[in-house]
Amino acid sequence: MRTKIIAGNWKMYKTPAESLAFLDAYLPAVAGHTADELLLFPSDTSLSAVLKKIEGTNVHAGAQTMHWAKEGAYTGQTSATMLKAIGATHVLLGHSEQRAYQNETYESVHLKIKAAFEVGLKPMVCVGELLDERQAGVTKDTLLSQLGAAFTGLSAENLGDLSIAYEPVWAIGTGLTASPEQANEAHGIIRNELRVMFGDAVADSMRILYGGSVKPNNSATLLALPEVDGLLIGGASLDPKSLATIVASRL
Ligand code: PEP
Repeated sequence: MRTKIIAGNWKMYKTPAESLAFLDAYLPAVAGHTADELLLFPSDTSLSAVLKKIEGTNVHAGAQTMHWAKEGAYTGQTSATMLKAIGATHVLLGHSEQRAYQNETYESVHLKIKAAFEVGLKPMVCVGELLDERQAGVTKDTLLSQLGAAFTGLSAENLGDLSIAYEPVWAIGTGLTASPEQANEAHGIIRNELRVMFGDAVADSMRILYGGSVKPNNSATLLALPEVDGLLIGGASLDPKSLATIVASRL
């Protein structure tokens, strides 16, 4: 059995004070929930405060992106070493908003995965098709090409620390959710490709999460799907009650 991950992506929301206020409500609400891994991706300016506050709790946190270089003349960027130094355990890579607005590519995601592994950060890599790609019937080709660019050449040895979030881009922040059949099918395609690339042991151990307009009223159905190893939640993770309700919907 794979431990599920329930992760919140706060995008560009919440000051440090707002992040701490969230945790004042969220941490007691999920205390004792050990069935799943609970994760938050705050903005870089809140990450340090969040990491301090969650010390010794069942909640972990990481950054929403990073650079692949150890250090250098990359104004505005943060390295894996810097994230590790403040106690981050995870990093989100290849989110569709990074791909759409910050020129993130799966070639850069590949370099970032390697940099994350070098310092022991656990990457969560987002993949997913655009609406045009789904309508054109090329969802599978899109997923295979994203996985190929991100993962080809990685050594199987670290991959247990990597998770994948299947996030159909047409479902992110739109209120549209993939149907259980669509989610199961996409997750199956991804797991099968992992099997081809890395063998059964890696494919069977890697967590594949679903993301895209997950709310308290649809989380239980999605979490019950056999291929869904957790959820990556944007909008509904901003409110502690709503995220705690999603966590509880797993019980
Ligand atoms: C996301 O940011 O990864 C996401 C899935 O957002 P939302 O839940 O708001 O669709």
